[in-house]
Amino acid sequence: MAAKAVLAIDQGTTSTRAMIFDARGGVLARAQAELRQHFPAEGWVEHDPEDIWRDTLQVCRDALAKAVLEAKEIAAIGITNQRETTVVWERATGKPIHRAIVWQDRRTAEACRKLEAVHGMAVAAKTGLVIDAYFSASKIAWILDQVPGARARAEAGELAFGTIDCFLLWRLTGGKSHRTDATNAARTLLYDIRAQAWDDGLLKLFGVPKAVLPEVLDNAADFGTTDPALLGAAIPVAGMAGDQQAATVGQVCFEAGQIKSTYGTGCFALLNTGATFVPSKNRLLTTIAYRLGGRATYALEGSIFAAGSTIQWLRDGLKLIKSAGETEALARGGAGTGSVYLVPAFTGLGAPYWDPFARGAIMGLTRDTGIADIVRAGLEAVCYQTGDLMGAMTDDFGKAPTTLRVDGGMTVNDWVMQRLADLLGVPVERPVVTETTALGAAFLAGLQVGVFPSLDALTKIWARDRRFEPDMAVEERTRLRQGWIDAVRRVRSES
Ligand code: ADP
Repeated sequence: MAAKAVLAIDQGTTSTRAMIFDARGGVLARAQAELRQHFPAEGWVEHDPEDIWRDTLQVCRDALAKAVLEAKEIAAIGITNQRETTVVWERATGKPIHRAIVWQDRRTAEACRKLEAVHGMAVAAKTGLVIDAYFSASKIAWILDQVPGARARAEAGELAFGTIDCFLLWRLTGGKSHRTDATNAARTLLYDIRAQAWDDGLLKLFGVPKAVLPEVLDNAADFGTTDPALLGAAIPVAGMAGDQQAATVGQVCFEAGQIKSTYGTGCFALLNTGATFVPSKNRLLTTIAYRLGGRATYALEGSIFAAGSTIQWLRDGLKLIKSAGETEALARGGAGTGSVYLVPAFTGLGAPYWDPFARGAIMGLTRDTGIADIVRAGLEAVCYQTGDLMGAMTDDFGKAPTTLRVDGGMTVNDWVMQRLADLLGVPVERPVVTETTALGAAFLAGLQVGVFPSLDALTKIWARDRRFEPDMAVEERTRLRQGWIDAVRRVRSES
């Protein structure tokens, strides 16, 4: 019988996971390892690629053992990864010449700010991005300039660049495949997402030699096969996508107008805009949602800096609660007038305000305000900010979304999900499998090797745990929202 199970590798910022799924999208096994973070200077964040590689092999082996499966019973591997994090290694040995520079790292911020002032518009028209230290281009240039001799070696073709997907593929295939996928390429600032090609002008602008770049494939493609010595058989690597895009696939948001929103430490929302590259007037990012059969589907992306981290702050900073789980009962028990607002602008405000100098505040306090009201305001802030993002997306896309599909650690909170539906006026859908990032990688790999026959089949596999219908009068929604807008106005640095 042909192998029917698919192994997903989910290499995230703080952990590396492997999950094995069956042909109906059910979870057969999961394994996880925490990843050590390095902070060599203020604003710098690094990972050791050797840690990432060691953990990846280990969690794959652990997941196989837990599922009681042999490698030959795995039809394909899908990889999803923390996006933008940059590795440069020697082609001859596979050894990195520097630790990975993580997406959060700000060491190239000043250089990027200068470039943005002059070239921002032109670069956005090709890449859909703003010139920021977040993306890979300036990180690659930094490594080539700081490691002695690296630039000359790169130009001579001795060095390879890759995001984590690409580095893992290289290692898994024993150095045979230097490839990435369109969604990861789309986050480098070097890839023209309309032309679907590396762009010579961008390479020149950021000082990156073409010789270091990987080949870019669709998200479901033949990326290579694993070295049999690693897992016990040669397994095709057949799917690959950046984490937020993989989650979009895992949530089967295949129609233009569908949104997925992931609520972890922060929150990332992606709106599928179909075959159209929609530039943003609200400084959202335009990106590739996925590319299949050579055809790109685009997305608008927005993020909220503080989602679950607000709850962590209520727990660890203010010590109002002992665990995140307590917030649900507290929110239900609060007086519920909705007059307290917490604006979690701990590190400024993101889209659509873009105010890095704004700082947080709690407003609307009265003599009878209690812990429950403040906790509730912290939870509601996530809902209001999602509303801000959806407003920006609707404005850019020209159409309001019909539903919101959610995942991530915060979505276990039923009160937040209902409040989200109420405050957005849009139904909120939560899937049975909330590890949608890994599921999306498995979907892509399984599509390529025929475990899943089509996108339609995936749509049927996706199972809803619960749908939260809006249940709030329009006047009440408008009144509460107005209060939020007023609270944000008061914390803005220019007001
Ligand atoms: P990440 O992948 O960013 O580490 P997760 O998806 O694991 O995050 O989600 C963890 C976050 O979810 C934490 O910030 C935590 O505060 C929040 N969280 C977990 N459970 C709840 C809950 N019941 N109510 C509200 N927030 C929660």
